[in-house]
Amino acid sequence: MKIICIGRNYRDHATELGNAVPDEPVVFCKPDSAILQPRLPFVLPSWSQDIHHEVEWVVRIGRVGKFIEPEFAWSYIDAMTVGLDFTARDLQSKLKAKGLPWEKAKGFDGSAVLGEWIKGPVEPGFHDISLLKNGQEVQAGNTRDFLFPLESLIAHVSQYFTLKSGDLLFTGTPAGVGPVSPGDELEAKLDGKSLLRLRIR
Ligand code: ZN
Repeated sequence: MKIICIGRNYRDHATELGNAVPDEPVVFCKPDSAILQPRLPFVLPSWSQDIHHEVEWVVRIGRVGKFIEPEFAWSYIDAMTVGLDFTARDLQSKLKAKGLPWEKAKGFDGSAVLGEWIKGPVEPGFHDISLLKNGQEVQAGNTRDFLFPLESLIAHVSQYFTLKSGDLLFTGTPAGVGPVSPGDELEAKLDGKSLLRLRIR
């Protein structure tokens, strides 16, 4: 199983980090060991002083596909949820400045957090995602504001990677990313429904 992630898929988030708006999807991967086991807290790693939350709409691939045409993209999705793409922003900035890969800053243990799955065929449509930190909304977005819609993401990614059943696609985060601290409580919602609760340690 692999975890494919999209960066800078909302204009407001690309600009908040001072990044150019991309002309094709920004793609990176996390290893399967990045998945935080359900009900465990997120333990801040000792080697970073700036771990950021990124709330994202996450879809799961239900069957094998390669060179998928945009019009068939939705038929490859068998579940959806909301997730967190934890990012060591200090390490990522250091690596970006040197032109080096981001994997350590994005793919470390526990950096991929998944909410409860909404299973079954996912119909084409748009979804609201939001994140509350200690009860206050810090991120909110709607997938209609994607720079690259789901159809384009699946078509693009599947030109490079064969998609397999169980693979996950993190679709990018809206503006409002920020640091987490020990004791913080995060809650993520999909279409207003709370699907993920997490304590930071
Ligand atoms: Zn992200």
